[in-house]
Amino acid sequence: KSFDDYNLSEEIKRALTVLKYESPTEVQEEVIPLALEKQDLVVKSQTGSGKTASFGIPICELVEWEERNPQALILTPTRELAVQVREDITNIGRFKRIKAMAVYGKEPFSKQKEELKQKTHVVVGTPGRVIDHIERGTLVLDEIKYLIIDEADEMLNMGFINDVESIIEDLPSDRVTMVFSATLPKDVENLCHKYMKDPVNIEI
Ligand code: AMP
Repeated sequence: KSFDDYNLSEEIKRALTVLKYESPTEVQEEVIPLALEKQDLVVKSQTGSGKTASFGIPICELVEWEERNPQALILTPTRELAVQVREDITNIGRFKRIKAMAVYGKEPFSKQKEELKQKTHVVVGTPGRVIDHIERGTLVLDEIKYLIIDEADEMLNMGFINDVESIIEDLPSDRVTMVFSATLPKDVENLCHKYMKDPVNIEI
């Protein structure tokens, strides 16, 4: 398998070369083609499998550069993960000039507010701070077409279930939803059942 098997633009392929990603990992092989088709996905896979790029590559491919408001929202349980995912998206999208930003607690709200006024394609954030931005009107979700819930089991373990549900309910319903989780406990499955459209299950 090779990244040339997918219909990726030159900008994205060039970034993968710079990152020295020569061939897709197992999870990337499963996820990339379906995500490019805008299929809802529930993916059971561990950290270290290349899961970030498995959604990062299709997201960078699919977002429209001209659009000003965020088109993809990625929820993570921790700010460390939010920062890491933002960096990965920035690297994958560098030649397409994809702008990704991270919003998380313990960083001044005002700094993030200023950044959100600029063109932003992808927002990566922890649930609490994402809700703050929604409530204060600094994060516009009208154009969100892709929602990714990363480390869903961790997110629910940390008690973010109500926050996650309230964010989902603020999103346009004609979006694509992808859930990534190391384990699939009942509450993750319930969340998927409630908010996803005929998701394909992928287990690595
Ligand atoms: P993740 O599971 O997303 O935390 O990724 C684990 C590590 O694998 C990260 O350091 C990535 O940069 C790296 N990685 C992701 N995809 C590939 C690939 N196709 N080839 C080589 N390394 C990769």
